[in-house]
Amino acid sequence: MKRSLLTSSVQYLKGVGPRRAERFARLGVATGRDLLYHLPHRYEDATTVDRIASLKPGDDATVIGRVISKGVLQTRGRLRVFHAVVRDATGLIECAWPGRPWLDRSICKGDLLLVSGPVRFYHGRQLQPREHTILARADEATDGAGTNGGPGDHRGQVFPVYPATEGLTHRQVRTIVEQNLEPLLEETEDQDSIPDEWRSELELPPLAEALRVLHQPAELPEVEPARRRLAFEELFYLQLLYARARARLRHDAPGIAFDAPPDLTLGLLEALPFELTGAQRRAWAEIERDMAAPTPMNRLLQGDVGSGKTVVAALAMLKAAEAGHQAALMAPTELLAEQHERTLCSLLEPLGLKPALLTGSVTGTARRYVLERLAGGEERLVVGTHALIQDAVAFGSLGLAVIDEQHRFGVEQRRVLREAGGALDALVMSATPIPRSLALALYGDLDISVIDEMPPGRRAVVTGVRGPGSREAAFEFLREQLAAGRQGYVLYPLIEESEALEARSATEMHEELSERYAEFEVGLLHGRLSSSEKESTMRRFLEGEIRLLVATTVIEVGIDVPNATVMLIEDAERFGLAQLHQLRGRVGRGAEQSYCVAFHRGREPSDRLRAFAATNDGFQLAEEDLRLRGQGDFFGRDQHGLATLRFADLERDRSLLEEARRRARSIVEEDRELGRPEHRRMGRELAERYGDRESLYRVG
Ligand code: ADP
Ligand code: MG
Repeated sequence: MKRSLLTSSVQYLKGVGPRRAERFARLGVATGRDLLYHLPHRYEDATTVDRIASLKPGDDATVIGRVISKGVLQTRGRLRVFHAVVRDATGLIECAWPGRPWLDRSICKGDLLLVSGPVRFYHGRQLQPREHTILARADEATDGAGTNGGPGDHRGQVFPVYPATEGLTHRQVRTIVEQNLEPLLEETEDQDSIPDEWRSELELPPLAEALRVLHQPAELPEVEPARRRLAFEELFYLQLLYARARARLRHDAPGIAFDAPPDLTLGLLEALPFELTGAQRRAWAEIERDMAAPTPMNRLLQGDVGSGKTVVAALAMLKAAEAGHQAALMAPTELLAEQHERTLCSLLEPLGLKPALLTGSVTGTARRYVLERLAGGEERLVVGTHALIQDAVAFGSLGLAVIDEQHRFGVEQRRVLREAGGALDALVMSATPIPRSLALALYGDLDISVIDEMPPGRRAVVTGVRGPGSREAAFEFLREQLAAGRQGYVLYPLIEESEALEARSATEMHEELSERYAEFEVGLLHGRLSSSEKESTMRRFLEGEIRLLVATTVIEVGIDVPNATVMLIEDAERFGLAQLHQLRGRVGRGAEQSYCVAFHRGREPSDRLRAFAATNDGFQLAEEDLRLRGQGDFFGRDQHGLATLRFADLERDRSLLEEARRRARSIVEEDRELGRPEHRRMGRELAERYGDRESLYRVG
C-alpha cells in the first residue's frame, strides 16, 4: 500500500526535514494532514491594492511591488533611514523607514514587497510604511499564487499569509505548502466524509476543493464558501461527539420513566399565586417529557436571575415524588441551600409538603434523622449542598438531581453531573445566560431549556454608568437609600495578580465607608477571609444587621437580599459583561425600585459598559459579550478540554451549527456506532479529530 502523506510526519514532506519539522511542531503541525489544515490567516490581494502611479501625498496606501533598489541613508540629524524603491506595473515609489536601518538585512533587491502607510511629499512622493510583508523573494516562484507575468505585474494574484514561527517564515510555509499541496489534496479527494447530498443542500464545496481554494484562492470571494465548508465540518464533528455521548447515556443507562398521575405537579400549578410565563411553560413541558421517558434526562435549564427557574425545578421534583421516587436539589454553598429550602417550603406549603435540609450545619440527631429517612425513602424531597451526592448519602430511591449552578456551569459541574450516575435524571440550573450557539458548542451533549422571559410586573434595575466626576453624587444617593432603610453593596473588582492587593483596597474602602456612613453597620467581604468568616458576614447582611456590604466579587452570586436596592461597582471596566450583569442581579429582588451604578475611570465609558447600561436582558448581553470578546475567550476560560473552533464563527455560522446538530443527532439515532458502510468515513474522521477526547464525555 502506498504510504499516506496525510498521516505521516510532516518531516517527510518535500522541503521539510527534521529541523523544520520541529519548528512546524510549534505551530501545531505534526502530520501532512495538519499542514493541509494549516491555513493562511489572511490574504493580500494584489488586485485590490493601490496602483503606484495614482498615489498622491495625503493618501493612506497599500501597494505591492518589487524592490528595485535599496540602502541606508543618514539624515543630518544622524537618524539612519532604510530606503527602498518599489515598482509595480504602473510606476515606482520610494519607501522610507526612519530609524530602522536593520531592515537592510531582511529586505533584498528583487523581493516582492507589500507595504502600507501614508504617502507624503519629500523630494517627490514617499511612502512611510506602517507595515510591510515580504510576499516573495527574488528567486522564489510565485506560481502557486497564480503569477501570470513578470515582476510588477500582479493582476489576479492573491497572496496567502500563513501563521509562522521563529525559524519558519510565512513564505517558507507557503513554499512548502505549494510543493506538497497536490499529493495531499489527491489523498483527500476520496476522504470527503460529508455526504454529497448534504453538500448540495447546504451549498458547500467538496473538501479537497475547499482546501485548495483556502490555500490558493484565485480571488478573494472564493474564500468564504470554502471556509464555511470547513466550519460545517468542524461543527458537525463536535456535535457528533456530543450526540454519541448523549446517546450512550440514554441507551446504556436505563432510566426511570416518571409517569404517575400528575397529582402533585397539578396541585402546585393550581396553588401558585401566578400563571407560569410562556417560557416557563415551555421549559416545564420539555422537562416533563424527558422525565416521562424511560431514558435518563440530562438537561440544562438556563435563565436570567429572577426568571423563575426555581418554580420549574420544584415541578420537576414533584414529578419525581409523585412517581414514588426521591428528588434532591443541590446548591454550591450552604447559604444558597438554605435559601432554596425556604423558597421550596413556601412554594410547597399549600400542598402540605416540606423538603428536608441536609448541609454541614445540620448535625447530631437532626442529621441522623434526615439520613435515616432518606435511606428509608420516606423523605421524598431534600435540599443540600453538592456534598449530598458526593459524600454518598444513601438514598432509598433517588430519581432526580437538580443542580443549581448560579454562577457558571463548567467542567466541575459536569463532573458532578456524571458522578450523579447514568440512571438519574439530572437537571442543571444556570443563571448565567449564554447565547444558544455558544451553549450548543460547549454543552451540546446536554439538552437545553431556556427561560428567556421575565415574570410580568418586574421592575428593571435602573442602571447608570458614571465617570469620576459623579462619584460624590452616587455615594450621597447611597446614603439616602440607607437612610430610607434599604441596604446596598459597593463592589470591587477582583485583582487577579494579587489577592493581597485586592484585600487591601477593599479593606481601605471599608474603613473609609465605615467613617462616611458612621451611623450604619458596614461589612467587608473579600477573598482572603475564611469561608466561615465570609458566611457569617453574609448571614448578617442577609438578616439586615449589616446595611452596607463592601465586597470583592466573592459575594455569593445567588443570595437574595430583597431589601438591597443599590449597587455601586468600582472600576467597572475590569469586569466582564456577564459578570456585571450577574452582580446587578443581586439588587432588584424586592418590591422597591433598585439602582446600579457602574463607575469607569476614563473620560468615556467603554462599549461594554454602554451595552451594560442599555439593557437588563441577560441573553441580549450575552450575545453582545460574545461579539465584543470573541468565542475563543469562552472556550479558554471554560477549560473545556476541547480545542477552540478554528474555522467556525458562532455568530456567522449559527444556522450551520443548527444544521450540524440536527444532522449529527439523526445519524446517531440511526447508527450510534457509525458502523454502516455509508457512515464509516465519518467514524474515522471523528476518531481522527477527537479520538483521545471521546472518553471525556463517557458517562458512568
Ligand atoms: P430564579 O430561580 O430563576 O432566579 P425564582 O424562581 O427565584 O427565579 O423566581 C423569582 C421570583 O419570581 C420568585 O419570587 C417567584 O415566586 C416569582 N415568579 C416565578 N415565576 C413567576 C411567574 N410566572 N409570575 C410571577 N412571578 C413569578
Ligand atoms: Mg433563584
